[in-house]
Order: sequence, then C-alpha cells, then structure tokens
Amino acid sequence: MASSELHFLLVPLVAQGHIIPMVDLARLIASRGARVTIVTTPVNAARNRAAVDSAKRAGLDVGLVELPFPGPQLGLPEGMENADQMVDRGMYLKFFEAIWKMAEPLEQYLRALPRRPDCLIADACNPWTAGVCASVGIPARLVLHCPSAYFLLAVHNLSAHGVYDRVGDDEMEPFEVPDFPVRAVGNKATFRGFFQWPGVEKEHRDVLHAEATADGLLLNTSRGLEGVFVDAYAAALGRKTWAVGPTCASLGADDADAMAGRGNRAEVDAGVITAWLDARPPESVLYISFGSIAQLPAKQVTELALGLEASGRPFIWAIKEAKSDAAVKALLNSEDGGGFEERVRDRGLLVRGWAPQVTILSHRATGGFLTHCGWNATLEAIAHGVPALTWPSFADQFCSERLLVDVLRVGVRSGVKVPAMNVPEEAQGVQVASGDVEKAVAELMDGGEEGAARRARAKELAKEARKAMEEGGASCSDLEDMIRYVSELSRKRSHERGTSSTPVPSAAAAELGSKKGEKIEADAALSVQS
Ligand code: UDP
Repeated sequence: MASSELHFLLVPLVAQGHIIPMVDLARLIASRGARVTIVTTPVNAARNRAAVDSAKRAGLDVGLVELPFPGPQLGLPEGMENADQMVDRGMYLKFFEAIWKMAEPLEQYLRALPRRPDCLIADACNPWTAGVCASVGIPARLVLHCPSAYFLLAVHNLSAHGVYDRVGDDEMEPFEVPDFPVRAVGNKATFRGFFQWPGVEKEHRDVLHAEATADGLLLNTSRGLEGVFVDAYAAALGRKTWAVGPTCASLGADDADAMAGRGNRAEVDAGVITAWLDARPPESVLYISFGSIAQLPAKQVTELALGLEASGRPFIWAIKEAKSDAAVKALLNSEDGGGFEERVRDRGLLVRGWAPQVTILSHRATGGFLTHCGWNATLEAIAHGVPALTWPSFADQFCSERLLVDVLRVGVRSGVKVPAMNVPEEAQGVQVASGDVEKAVAELMDGGEEGAARRARAKELAKEARKAMEEGGASCSDLEDMIRYVSELSRKRSHERGTSSTPVPSAAAAELGSKKGEKIEADAALSVQS
C-alpha cells in the first residue's frame, strides 16, 4: 500500500501537553504522504487550528475533526474541555469520565466514514479507543506515550517489582528504582505513575490493557537521548516500539507560524516577543514557564519574583497566576506604582497567560529555561540547546528533572523536593526562597567553567535531536518503519476481513471540522454508510 493511500486517525488526550505533540506527529506522518485526521473537541480544535492550518499551507493532508465533549452530560460546565481548565481538582474524576464517554461519538463518526482509516493512534491516556477500534474494525491500533521513556520504565519497574505495593500510602518512603539503567532514588510522591490515584483504578486498568494489546507503541523521544530506557521499556512490554521524537525538533527556522501557533493563541504576540528578544544579547535571557497546568501558590510566586529581581538578568515570565490569583495581581502592580512589573520593566517581560514557548526557546537571546519539566518543555529545551533550571511540580516532571540533571547533565536543580500537594501547610507552598532562586539563576546563566560545559552539552544534544529527526536519522527511520508496518498490517488485516481497502479521494474524505462545509461532508458520509 502506498503511503498516499494510508489514512491515520489521531486521538490525543484533551490536554495541551498531549495535543501539541500529537499535532507534531500528524505533520510528520503527513509529510510522508499519508492522510492524517486529528480527532478532538471543539475548544481544542479551535486552539490548535492555527498549527493545523500552517501544515495545510505547507501542502500536507492534515485535517481536524470535532466531536462533542460529553462533559455537560456529567455536570461539567459547557466549554470545559481541556485539563488546563480544571481549576478544581475535584472535577478530575468527572473530566476523565467524560473523556471515556467520547467512545460513543467517535464510533458514530467512524461508522459514518465511507472507508475505515487504516490506523488509529491514541494517546496512552485514551484507552477507550481500543474498544472502538475493535468494534469498527480499524486494521491497526497504536499507542502514543507523551512522557519520557525514563518515566515509563521507572513506573513499570516499580509496579512490576511490587515497590508501590510495599510503600502503600506512604508517599515519602525512599526507594531506589529496581532493575533500572541508572541509579534513581525517590519516593512515591515523585515517581507516581499516571492514573495512580484513588478513584481511577478502572481507568488505570484500561490504560494498561490498551497498551498491552496495541499493535505498537510510539514514544516522543529519541534513541540518542533515551536509548537505554526505550530499549528496556520495549523489552519489558514486548511490543513493537518506535522512538519518533523529539517531535518538536522537526520545526525549523522556516516554521515561525507553526511555532507561534502551537497549542493556543499567545497572550502577547510572537512578533512583539521576538522584537523584545532581538534587542537582547545572545544567551542572556531566562525564560520562565510552568506549562499549561501547574500553578504556584502566591507566596512562592513572590519568592520567585524577588529572586528574579535580585538576579539582575533579563527574563520573560509566562505567569498564568496573574490571571487567577488576586495576591499575584497585587504583587505585580501595586497602587503606588512600585509593583514588581514596574521595578523590572527595563528587563522583565511578563506574559499573563499563554506564551509562544518555542518561539522564545528558539531565539538566540534565550540562554536559560526555568521549567516545570513537563516532557514537552523538556524536549523543547533540549531541541533548542537551552540549559534548564528545573522546578518540577507533579506527575512525570520529577523524572524529567532527574533525566535533565543527572543523566543528560544539562540542568540545575532549583531545590524543589516534592509536589506542591506534599508541602507541609506551615510552608504556605514555598519550597524555594528568593535567595536560592537568585543563586540557582546565577549558576545556570553563568556558572563559570561548569556552566560553559553544561551549555556546550545542551548545544550538542540539540544538534543530535535535530539530526535524529532528519532524513536518515534514527527517529526519522523509526517513523518511516512505523508507516511501513501500518501499511502492511492494514493490507493484511483488510484482506483477512474481506473489507474493501479502496481509498476514497482525499478531498472527498470526511474531514469533520468547525467549518460548515466539513460538517456537511460528515453528514454525507453518514448517509453513504446507512
Ligand atoms: N506551552 C506554550 N505556552 C505556554 C505554556 C505551555 O506554548 O504558555 C506549551 C509548551 O511549549 C508545551 C506544552 O504547552 O509544548 C506543555 O506541555 P508540557 O509537557 O511541557 O507541560 P504540561 O502543560 O503538560 O504540564
């Protein structure tokens, strides 16, 4: 089967850190000639339309399909469709329940298509897609993991060796990860796997089962970065595994639009930020972001602000808390005009919400990244050769910190020890005092010989990451191998089932989107089927 006849359906988890790499993956698969449709909900489609449109302008056959989000049926507010909108932790159970319910509209959509897609690639956190694939008869089903291979392997080994069972509810009991390629010490609080929370036990079992029965696994990493972890994880799961990342490293200097439009509309225009950075010396600016979900308590924001001020260095701070936290608003702008923003105005740029992160990291003036160590942020730092000041908050972020600092040696620790929820109440959420922020920033941005060696390693890793994504590179070869594998599997299974694999012309293919014409096509597809 020629790749131009292949149709991939991609189903990301509705969270920024999962949709963004899936959109990258869509672009990469489509650039090999296949047709790709990304399935998500209206709010998430609107946020990612700019990135998809830029792929279309580049001539790629990538489409967006909108499925209704079942949240309101379960009492979630209309329009709440992304993990970054969960202001109240109590909403998470309902949020995941709603995600699982997306199986119904997905199945309906698939049954309405004139021809089944050849392959469905689902985020590992969307295991409900497995039942849909079986019921509709999608020839190939792959799982995309969005965290690091380091994290996946650690969680797998901790489970397999009974370490989680042994420590039980004691989140702080120290342990070493068994049978691991490097020495890794921590506790349950900093090695907690996805869905390892009370109340989502069934969801957790679903995730494990969908992965164990998938036709293969995709990892957003490269063998150059994480080879030993990738190989050990593939061996442990016994599934065919492709390392196809870092997907963000495939964006080049010509992709300014795609970079600026990643994930959401930026609160401050990318052009304004680029002009601000253009006026600064190379590698002088520190960029600060805690990703799409993590928020610091106001007291910790204050300590960070004072530390940045004392550091005397230029910075860009994506400060989401400025939107939602009255104490943070007051810190930034006091009535007498002596607020933080005014005091640092000659060298500090505040972005009160979504920042064009990759535009910032790819600019030559950016020399450091104070990051929460989300896996995408970690890969974006690596892909652009920017050393990291690590400030993890929850989930896999403590593992990304260990990888950056202990394994790849391109990071400096801020001193955060546990997730915010494990900080004793009397600390009021503060884990890093202003003086420690100031010291850590100096170490990262200057740091003498050691700092220079760290920067040199970061640049080397960036070169390797880009090479991996280029023609002939390891991740590029893995991607092409995956496409070949899917092509063969689809042909074989379609033949076995006696189903037609006659492709419909690409333009006529149902690409349901927010545009009216696209909706009509879906309706037409529905009537063809019935
Ligand atoms: N991101 C961005 N601007 C922001 C915040 C986040 O572009 O202001 C992007 C970031 O580049 C990354 C993704 O959102 O691609 C966040 O994923 P990550 O894994 O880093 O963290 P999460 O948000 O899942 O905690």
